[in-house]
Amino acid sequence: MTGKDNFNFESLLDESVKIHGHLCPGQVLGVRMSILGLEKVDIEDPKGKDRKKVMVFVEIDRCATDAIQSVTGCSPGKRTMKLLDYGKMAATFVNLNTGKAIRILAKEESKAAAKNYCTEIEDKYERQTAAYKVMPDEELFKWEEVSVEIPPEDMPGRPLKRVQCEKCGEYVQDNREINLDGRIYCKACAGKAYYKK
Ligand SMILES: [Zn+2]
Ligand SMILES: [Zn+2]
Repeated sequence: MTGKDNFNFESLLDESVKIHGHLCPGQVLGVRMSILGLEKVDIEDPKGKDRKKVMVFVEIDRCATDAIQSVTGCSPGKRTMKLLDYGKMAATFVNLNTGKAIRILAKEESKAAAKNYCTEIEDKYERQTAAYKVMPDEELFKWEEVSVEIPPEDMPGRPLKRVQCEKCGEYVQDNREINLDGRIYCKACAGKAYYKK
């Protein structure tokens, strides 16, 4: 079963379900992925004494993301969770003190493999959720050590820089501006807006 000394799987799952709003396979996967990731980068107490040591890069914006936030205590607002919209069920856990980083990917095959577990449960969704609780880490995930370079302007703390867009006049923090032919633009004015006026 998951969860060594520092992590109680069931109570972490309870907490995550409260925040997320429902129990789903993504919560179970997210909680287990987080426990595995934190253990692999030697983080024992992510919401306590180790809270300034941990950062997570999440590659998907789905159910598991909430679980990862809940277990790790990392969040976009604290700048300790970076949401990368790759559409992949994967995340990288980084120990900021040691630089150790582990990228964990949920295996595509785990969904099919889940059918071999908890066969007494008839409902497919419920069976999958229950199976993900008991399947070994190796069957659920693939992981490897990676290296992640985190530029100073992406770290928690006060903004390092603040510039004004020459077109709209809005301010842009932390090097997110775009330099086009010597002029400073925000991303929206540089043609990367997600909205239209
Ligand atoms: Zn969900
Ligand atoms: Zn602008």
